[in-house]
Amino acid sequence: MTRQSENNRVDRTLRKLSLDREAPKSAFILLVLLYAIATFLTVTTGRMHGETIIFGIPVEYTSLPGIFSTLGNICIILLVVLFRKVGYIVSVGLIILQLPMNYVNVFVRHHYRGLPGFFSSIMVIISITVIYLSYKKILNYQNSIREQAVTDRLTGLPNRFATGELMADLLKKDERFCLVSTDLNNFKSVNDTMGHATGDLVLKEVANRWKTLANSMNTGTVDFVARNTGDEFLIVISDYQSIEDVENTIAMYKAELEKKITIDNCDYFMTACFGYTLCPDDTEVIENLYLFADSALHELKKSGSGSRLLRFTPEVLNTEKTLEIERKIRTALSEDKIFFNLQPQYDMNHKLRGFEALARMKDDDGSYINPADFIPVAEDTGLVDRIDNKVFELAVQFIKDVNMDTDHDITMSVNVSVRHLMKNNFIEEIKRVLDAYKVPAECIEIEITESIMIDSADKALQRIDELKLMGMKVAIDDFGTGYSSLSYLNSFPSDLLKIDKSFIDKMNMSASSRQYVAMIISIGHTLNLKVISEGVETSDQIDVLKQIGCDYIQGYVWGMPMPPEEAKKLLEQEHA
Ligand code: C2E
Ligand code: MG
Ligand code: MG
Repeated sequence: MTRQSENNRVDRTLRKLSLDREAPKSAFILLVLLYAIATFLTVTTGRMHGETIIFGIPVEYTSLPGIFSTLGNICIILLVVLFRKVGYIVSVGLIILQLPMNYVNVFVRHHYRGLPGFFSSIMVIISITVIYLSYKKILNYQNSIREQAVTDRLTGLPNRFATGELMADLLKKDERFCLVSTDLNNFKSVNDTMGHATGDLVLKEVANRWKTLANSMNTGTVDFVARNTGDEFLIVISDYQSIEDVENTIAMYKAELEKKITIDNCDYFMTACFGYTLCPDDTEVIENLYLFADSALHELKKSGSGSRLLRFTPEVLNTEKTLEIERKIRTALSEDKIFFNLQPQYDMNHKLRGFEALARMKDDDGSYINPADFIPVAEDTGLVDRIDNKVFELAVQFIKDVNMDTDHDITMSVNVSVRHLMKNNFIEEIKRVLDAYKVPAECIEIEITESIMIDSADKALQRIDELKLMGMKVAIDDFGTGYSSLSYLNSFPSDLLKIDKSFIDKMNMSASSRQYVAMIISIGHTLNLKVISEGVETSDQIDVLKQIGCDYIQGYVWGMPMPPEEAKKLLEQEHA
């Protein structure tokens, strides 16, 4: 099969979704033939006199033309109903052909027995015209509904339903294919900073580019691009030889996306993650194909932004893993086995500024479970406030143990999930712990992640004001990964910006990445905030951060997260 004919098959599947399906050609021929026979018998029996015996019943010949003419009319109506325009034209043609003969018979030769036949022909033409016109109206309406059902209105691409139909079709034909699930990175920030109208234009541009690429068949495979929802798209790739072919095709979509998008003189640089799964290799169940491609996509998203692709593997499917982690969190909480590590933060002269308290939890085999795995599960299951409270209490206890509250000018940073921050008893809980250990609020800094903060900005701002009134410091964690809107930053009563590790990682790769970090620092300073860089791993990064005026550093280069006993020693050395 050629590529072109393969591609036509994609179109055929879409057409198949149409409600406007015609009956087979054989039915058309049969109906015309039946009509011809019925007409012939109407005329022939009309000329006969007397009666005949049918199934033992005496039937007068004069009653037969009526029966055959009705049969003929039924054929005509069926032709219009089943074959619409063609059926209508042929039917009208067939009747009109007989009209002159009827006319001559009745009005010229004065054979008035043919008069009912003449009027019946006129009536049939009027009836089928009415049927045809109302059918056309219904069809137009049905087609517009179909369009809406299988097409995405914004981009004009097929939608998820159409994708399902195509996959079902490929499955039926035993053809292998790949389902790719893709999601634009940071699209939310385009919407939030430039408005939804601009966001829509970005989506349309991406859709156009991908549609053009799919239609060009330059990828070497047969591709079908659809919009799933929001900034999520689906690509079905078929007619490939190997996984390399699939990955090459995806790479072409990725490259097409990453070309600059200009809207109203503004340039946008979009990237996306691509999760894919193969049928029948991974599964032959359509629902699972979606699930698998999405799971691969989410696995990529979890590990940060950037354009990457990943094939589904069973490990990626983490519903079971999530349940397992939830069980482990519950056990750890009930057995009081949540503990914490402290990661030092330094100023640029390597003088200790303080520590960040980081939750830790061990697996059944004694190995650590990564917080990036258990914190999101805890957030989803509402257990995060219990973890936060535990770490907060341990951190406050540490402050008391090492006399940080009286002897040292050291800050203890504690992470607070926004879900927890929003709880009505949040402030009381914090006060209760501080009172119990008699630790002043000034020793504590609360870290709140920027990206999730905004979703409920007003209430969160109120909570943060209360924290500030108590005397606590507030840090915006993972800065740069969320909205980074200046107006929000200005109204947010924080003390410290924590530049996300992803920016520090890229900082020394290009002048623009470095300028980006420099810009965040200068914005922070303009707003009277201190700025700390997270995830600093090399001395080169320290040098650059010094040059561009960063205030503090947190990273493996000067200190990994450590158990409290080690942190205590570090403090003693610092103040020796
Ligand atoms: P975060 O608050 O941004 O914490 C910084 C994370 O970066 C920590 O990971 C830390 O170990 C890691 N990190 C610091 N320096 C480096 C470096 O130089 N290289 C690398 N590769 N990593 C570095 P960790 O401990 O795995 O925590 C991950 C996230 O889990 C935290 O990110 C925070 O969002 C969350 N988390 C941790 N503890 C808690 C907690 O008690 N409550 C809440 N709500 N979230 C927590
Ligand atoms: Mg943090
Ligand atoms: Mg962070």
